[in-house]
Amino acid sequence: MCGAWGFPVHRHINRSATEALPEPLRGWLMCEVEWLSAHATDADKRKHTVEREAPRHYLDGDAPALACLDSLGDAPWFGRAAEACGEDTLWEYGVLPWQIGWSYAQLVQAFDSLDRPAVLRHATDLGHYVADAHVPLHTTLNYNGQLTGQDGIHSVWETRLPALYGGGYDLVVSDVQYIHNVHEWAWQALAHSHTLVPAVLEEERRASLEHGEGLVREERGGVVQLQQDQQWCAAYHEGMNGMVESQWRAAIQGVSSLWFSAWIDAGQPDLTEVFEPTRAPWWRRGLQRLRFGKQIQRPPVP
Ligand SMILES: [Zn+2]
Repeated sequence: MCGAWGFPVHRHINRSATEALPEPLRGWLMCEVEWLSAHATDADKRKHTVEREAPRHYLDGDAPALACLDSLGDAPWFGRAAEACGEDTLWEYGVLPWQIGWSYAQLVQAFDSLDRPAVLRHATDLGHYVADAHVPLHTTLNYNGQLTGQDGIHSVWETRLPALYGGGYDLVVSDVQYIHNVHEWAWQALAHSHTLVPAVLEEERRASLEHGEGLVREERGGVVQLQQDQQWCAAYHEGMNGMVESQWRAAIQGVSSLWFSAWIDAGQPDLTEVFEPTRAPWWRRGLQRLRFGKQIQRPPVP
């Protein structure tokens, strides 16, 4: 199984999510934006050493073995899903939507305990899993086009297209929001990504019909690989019609909103001492406490 978004995209998503946060959380986490960005890919790196890490990054939602989920509604809880399908089956075909909830709960706990290393660890991992949930090929058994003779499509979509065209994308996010139901939100994000799978595959076929396979040999890090040439990529990217850009931006918006929501759910703790111990003299800390006295109200659950 390929990684998710290429490493630079994961790093960019965590960095941009930090920058998009509302104050005061933004100010605190910006103290560690380099760390949050640099470690955005740790979860992928763990796949080879940590048992059961890999299935946390995907959900093969269309696998026949997961038809057992169909009768459980749109956002089944893990316990009910495990009853219906067997826990081993879930770990075989992926647990990504539940993993987002698990990482979220860990982040709430970390904020609540004012535990700086845990906040950073769970925030960066949550950012990774949420980003993966926005990659359509992380929601299908045909994750690399291997079932339809389109092998290699995974890295074209998530690494090659962002590398070639990401510089021109509008990825500024300003609508960070409190998320009432993280469990449902995660399932909706995956469901939306899954609706994009047919276009991801059909446009590959169209680009190949029009431009041939478009393969060129390229050397990367001393290894010669076959890559799609730029003309082919331009045709495919045009066929994607902004999909990579909008999924990328949605991932940033999602990560930032979940970090913000976790802090709200933890009771909006003052993290001045946790993140800026030397930069906050006693009088400023007092002022901040006064200012935070008027805290953002947690919106009522509808
Ligand atoms: Zn991943």
